[in-house]
Amino acid sequence: MGLQEQKQHFSVNLLDWYMVNRRDLPWRRHNNPYFTWVSEIMLQQTRVDTVIPYFNRFIGNFPTVQALAEAPEEDVLKNWEGLGYYSRARNLQAAARQVMELHGGEMPQDKPAVFALKGVGPYTAGAILSIAFNQPQPAVDGNVMRVLSRYFLIDEDIMKGSTRVLMEELAGELIPEGRARDFNQALMELGALVCTPKAPHCLTCPVMEQCSGRIAGRELTLPVKTKAKPPRPEQRLVAIVEGRGAHRGQVLVRQRPDTGLLARMWELPHVLAAPAAASKKAAPLADEPAMALLAGSLWAEGFAARPEGLATHAEHVFSHIVWSLQVYKCTEQDQSSELPLIAAEARAAYDAQAATREGTASSSAVSPESDTTHSSEPGTPNAQNISTSLNDGEMLMSSSDVSDLALSTPTLTGKGDGLTYRWIGPEDMDKMAFPNIFLKLISQYFAGNYDNINP
Ligand code: SF4
Repeated sequence: MGLQEQKQHFSVNLLDWYMVNRRDLPWRRHNNPYFTWVSEIMLQQTRVDTVIPYFNRFIGNFPTVQALAEAPEEDVLKNWEGLGYYSRARNLQAAARQVMELHGGEMPQDKPAVFALKGVGPYTAGAILSIAFNQPQPAVDGNVMRVLSRYFLIDEDIMKGSTRVLMEELAGELIPEGRARDFNQALMELGALVCTPKAPHCLTCPVMEQCSGRIAGRELTLPVKTKAKPPRPEQRLVAIVEGRGAHRGQVLVRQRPDTGLLARMWELPHVLAAPAAASKKAAPLADEPAMALLAGSLWAEGFAARPEGLATHAEHVFSHIVWSLQVYKCTEQDQSSELPLIAAEARAAYDAQAATREGTASSSAVSPESDTTHSSEPGTPNAQNISTSLNDGEMLMSSSDVSDLALSTPTLTGKGDGLTYRWIGPEDMDKMAFPNIFLKLISQYFAGNYDNINP
């Protein structure tokens, strides 16, 4: 069997299979480039079944490029809520505005112009041009690389740029004349339904007869893929601040900074439980120092609140970070002279916690990364941890910060690095965009799940 014959077998049989087995998906019912574009961005992060309701709602609310371009960003994020990777929603809207300004609202049909749209990479450009305009452009993502690696027994690491180039060339050669739209979707469909990552269904695969990977017994060991760096663990303390007086029935939320992780989304106030770099695994803080630190952190942000007790633990996984969250129910307090004392307590508790951690770390095996932490004096956060703002725009409390608090007068207008704060009730939940984890926590609070937490 020659390579040409093997390619021919693949293209013909795959296409025949697809025409019979293709799924009826909402974005496939029209050759609308905008629909293709939105669906492809959503599908980059989530399974088809999950995307369908999101896609229908998104298109229902923003049926055209123009509608998306003119929508308030908050509405776009709200419609994306739950899908994650919110920068993709922002890029989609920015690109819609580019299409309005540069192309009169019509999706461009040439590769450089599509590629120039914000958030559109080689895969999305190929998908739009082939699916919407039937242009013979490859659309190669991880699924497609898996299928091609197996079928052609390609041992190259798919994380390498050079392998992607090779795969794009190969995928382009496989497209039958005039059939780019169906063929590229067929390839995606095979990867999603048959040539799946962990348990490929070779016996029902339309191209199994000439699949080199299957014949060599390599279907489970391909593709070759170097492991991504594991996400960095972070222990965080979260405050559900219950309002009093004018804020009765409300909780305090803050809006994240304009740039960085989860930019401009709303969240519960939280703080990194530092020092945390003694090991690769984030460890929970004991409740007492955690609550003191949280009170001090809220004070630094301009709010007087007293933590009442642990409400729940939660976890939120990003591609590069894992947040382990200790969530405390807190109550709003008057701005009284008692609060600097809380800050002072926070410092003492923090120092005690830091000293304990130093002791623990020095008696256990630690990663090389933690060596610099050990060079710190007990009770003094490592220099790399002393910062008022991390890359992702988060506030980080250090003992020196807390010390300063006792001497300063708090500002009540929410000042945490220029952040915006609001007191919200259940009725506001539909109007603001929250990352999933905070949506869940706030909803649970309003549902009364944390009513029985007492000091
Ligand atoms: S035969 Fe198996 S390994 Fe080969 S393409 Fe089909 S499902 Fe994948």
